Amino acid sequence: MTADSTATVPSCADLDVVVIGAGVAGLTAASLLADAGLGVELLEAHHQSGGCAGTFRRGPYIFDVGATQVAGLEPGGSHHRLCRHFGIPLPEARPLDPGCVVQLADDNAPIALWRDPERWRQEQQRQFPGSERFWALCATLHQANWSFAGKDPVLPPRTLWDLRQLLGAIGPAQLATGLLAKATVADLLRLCGCAGDQRLRRFLDLQLRLYSQHGVDRTAALYGATVLAMAQAPLGLWHLEGSMQGLCDGLEQALQNAGGRLRLRHRVTRLAREGGRWRVQGQRANGTAFDRTCDAVVCSLPPQTLPTLLGEAMPQGYRRCLAQLPTPSGALVFYGAIERARLPAGVAAHLQLEAGQPGSLFVSISQEGDGRAPQGQATVIASVFTPSAPWFNLPEADYQRRKQEALTAIRSSLEAGLTLPANAFLHQELATPRGFAGWTGRPFGMVGGLGQSPDQFGPFGLASRTPLPGLWLCGDSLHPGEGTAGVSLSALMASRQLLAERGRPLQLRA
Ligand SMILES: Cc1cc2nc3c(=O)[nH]c(=O)nc-3n(C[C@H](O)[C@H](O)[C@H](O)COP(=O)(O)OP(=O)(O)OC[C@H]3O[C@@H](n4cnc5c(N)ncnc54)[C@H](O)[C@@H]3O)c2cc1C
Repeated sequence: MTADSTATVPSCADLDVVVIGAGVAGLTAASLLADAGLGVELLEAHHQSGGCAGTFRRGPYIFDVGATQVAGLEPGGSHHRLCRHFGIPLPEARPLDPGCVVQLADDNAPIALWRDPERWRQEQQRQFPGSERFWALCATLHQANWSFAGKDPVLPPRTLWDLRQLLGAIGPAQLATGLLAKATVADLLRLCGCAGDQRLRRFLDLQLRLYSQHGVDRTAALYGATVLAMAQAPLGLWHLEGSMQGLCDGLEQALQNAGGRLRLRHRVTRLAREGGRWRVQGQRANGTAFDRTCDAVVCSLPPQTLPTLLGEAMPQGYRRCLAQLPTPSGALVFYGAIERARLPAGVAAHLQLEAGQPGSLFVSISQEGDGRAPQGQATVIASVFTPSAPWFNLPEADYQRRKQEALTAIRSSLEAGLTLPANAFLHQELATPRGFAGWTGRPFGMVGGLGQSPDQFGPFGLASRTPLPGLWLCGDSLHPGEGTAGVSLSALMASRQLLAERGRPLQLRA
């Protein structure tokens, strides 16, 4: 779809819904609402869709901006269900086996998260003897979580309709596991007599931080149990062919098929409620202003943007509620390219390397023939969460020095972890939270949503239904949290709520 395309869409005066932000969440919400027959316009500040799951090109290389592996492509998974609903093909992908290899900074063999559950069970026994009860408890919790998630609950509920959706998803298994709603993964370790296994804790800390922004001590047990089961069949992780952009290309197609309109280079700067409708104002990349009127707005940006967008229209209570949210992390991401022969033979596509400053790395290596690098070369992306604020309001020279130090430290960790010679990289650059703020429009480049602690996850999290009529939220600050699979579910939740208010219940086509 091209920017400003004018397919079979209503005129601006007939708009039902404006969706803000064409990342995975906004594209999913816009496509669902357009598919349900509403007049939808999706406004995106950037010149392309994708946001944190987008792609950029450097010479012969294609780099995934943030997300590099995908969950939810299996039957019953969120992307699979949505692609079926929209009648679009699943993005071309190869299953990851192992889903990840975790290399702790010790002399033991790395831990491979095999796709086959039995092989993974044997790996657990070999790597963490005596932890069987912990893994069995996690598996039980995960099964209860999964059947719950498959019934599309609304979390946290704010109205009777929401509550009915939630209660409809709760069965005896969830009543039992609900007893652990306030527990952490550390509590599970204690319950199972594994709290003293420091190696297991270090492994879990690395894995959990990828999804929850917290380690063992602060990750909610129910959330952590499912995160720890993501790499195994019948779920599993995938590496997309071509680039991550394939996911958003498919969703753009779904939006177009449904008659929705994507407007690229349209940055929303103000939201106002006028005469019972929403007024959405902003600026195009060429500096000209735009102005839309609609019944409802779905905002996929972090909720921390709302005070600026709404200004005086922001209810004081809601302003206070958002101000109390924990500050999300930013990210440092190293984008490199290398001769494939320099890499260790048989290296996995995704690794975690336990490392010192600026932190342990999540590493993604392109696969031969996947379209990201010329034959015989590979792209290497290494990311680490980092506090955002210190990267802002620095004199330019200090910022550049800090950036160079971080790049050098990450490159050194990669050289040590992948046993690379010095100067092996053919290309290298670093994105800081400042770069992410520019690319994604996220304040302070915050990524990853709210941490999934017992105070913040699912039932205790932020609601997609805001106190302002007709203003909905989706994205990684909402249930069920970050990741492309997670944010597509948040978009499904908000779309179901919005459509239910209009008397048009949404049921995904099987
Ligand atoms: C380094 C890193 C690694 C990750 N790795 C993985 C992974 O391997 N697997 C995985 O599943 N997930 C991963 N994630 C998480 C995943 O990328 C995100 O959870 C998901 O892509 C967020 O999608 P979103 O639509 O909620 O937000 P975004 O992708 O941020 O989309 C928001 C969109 O809104 C636009 N926008 C912003 N402001 C405005 C405005 N004022 N007006 C109009 N448009 C605006 C932005 O340009 C952007 O396109 C990773 C994230 C990061 C940062």
